Amino acid sequence: MDIQFYNTLTRKKEKLNPIKPGEVSIYTCGPTVYNRSHIGNFRTFIFEDILKRVLLLVGYKVNHVMNITDIDDKTIKKANEENKKLKEITSKYTSEFIEDMNTLKILPANKYPAATDHIQEMIAMTTTLIEKGNAYVTDDGSVYFSINSFENYGKLAKLDMSSQKQTDRVASDEYTKDNIQDFVLWKSWKKEDGDISWNSPWGKGRPGWHLECSVMSTQYLSDHFDIHCGGVDNIFPHHENEIAQSCAALETDFVNIWMHSEHLNMADEKMSKSLGNIKTIPELLNDGYSPESLRYALISSQYRSKLSFSINKLEDAKKAVHRINDVFEKLNERSIESDSLPEEYNKFIESLSDDLNTPKALGILFNYLRKVNRKISKNELSKSEATMGLNFIKQADKIFALLVDKVIIPESISKLIVLREKARKEKQWELSDSLRDKIKEKGWIIEDTHDGYKCLPI
Ligand code: AMP
Ligand code: ZN
Repeated sequence: MDIQFYNTLTRKKEKLNPIKPGEVSIYTCGPTVYNRSHIGNFRTFIFEDILKRVLLLVGYKVNHVMNITDIDDKTIKKANEENKKLKEITSKYTSEFIEDMNTLKILPANKYPAATDHIQEMIAMTTTLIEKGNAYVTDDGSVYFSINSFENYGKLAKLDMSSQKQTDRVASDEYTKDNIQDFVLWKSWKKEDGDISWNSPWGKGRPGWHLECSVMSTQYLSDHFDIHCGGVDNIFPHHENEIAQSCAALETDFVNIWMHSEHLNMADEKMSKSLGNIKTIPELLNDGYSPESLRYALISSQYRSKLSFSINKLEDAKKAVHRINDVFEKLNERSIESDSLPEEYNKFIESLSDDLNTPKALGILFNYLRKVNRKISKNELSKSEATMGLNFIKQADKIFALLVDKVIIPESISKLIVLREKARKEKQWELSDSLRDKIKEKGWIIEDTHDGYKCLPI
């Protein structure tokens, strides 16, 4: 079956045609590790996870690289504000990022290269760009990319270069489309950088953010690879500048398909660290939402539509996750050995193959579950129908990952849980607390959630 994705570069859906047959190479811009990533960031990371899971399900091998941005304006600012070493800040937030990725059942990348481990390669690409006449050194020892030297500059973001007065250069990593200028490849050391710098042929300094992804993507995939992803805010300037750097330095086509996910909004504004309107994964887990409910909420819209964060959405997600797990259990009791699938499965795969239409695929699955549930309640579901249903859920779960892992709680713990529930009902708080401590001493942790309690091994 053909798979097609919307390519931001051509503004069209295009058939996937991997460079190496049977294998898809993907680069996704990773987190800037100066703060805990928020659920908005994870909208993008889950969209990339769905992309990868769909490719794997239809039989491709996937080679996925995600960078860790551990040097840029924001990480330096944070380290200096907190009077800490850069590494101390970036290691902490990298570990938290990996922890949240695991919690959300996001499949790990094949490689997570960190920018600070690739400074020499960045210096080499900058040197090439100077030699080829695409970059120049300024008096302070910085190096800038000359956007006029690259004919295709502006193609990704659809910039009208003729109406732009390009008069100056920009040293900061982020700027807007109204302000296109020569951008920085290598930034000379400034007092506010403190002790963060590397030696280079142009004096001490550090790389610009855009250069990092040009170097790490081509080093770990190849000069030319299949898919590059990010959030829509990455289109300009980050990805526009990546194209200019990589294509000019390596004389390559660089990327075949550029895919960008829309933002997760909070009350009509982009969820972002700078606006301060963020929710993190631990906060939401603490509010009683399961990783599966968070996943469902984030995939309930197609990745190219804006999505608003709300508690109602999470509550709906919780119900949907409950339904799929409930039907799964019921079918599990009734099924037999077979790998047959219902006819709805083809439509399910078709919708995912059409630019990852997750709401349509979820609709097909949940309509099917409703039908099955009706038959179960009337006691009309045959064993072979139960088996097909079970297989459908199992296949769908390879994409959505909404089935909750079942934990087998030993009887000795179950008895204590029953006593604690009774104590809570009778408002005997001291007793219930001491029972919780006893459960903990035995290696289990009990948490109260909106759905009742959750008991997990420590
Ligand atoms: P950052 O950690 O800021 O470098 O962002 C990591 C990824 O999250 C990038 O691909 C961004 O485009 C993406 N991102 C940031 N904010 C949002 C948001 N509110 N919704 C969806 N994706 C986002
Ligand atoms: Zn990037």
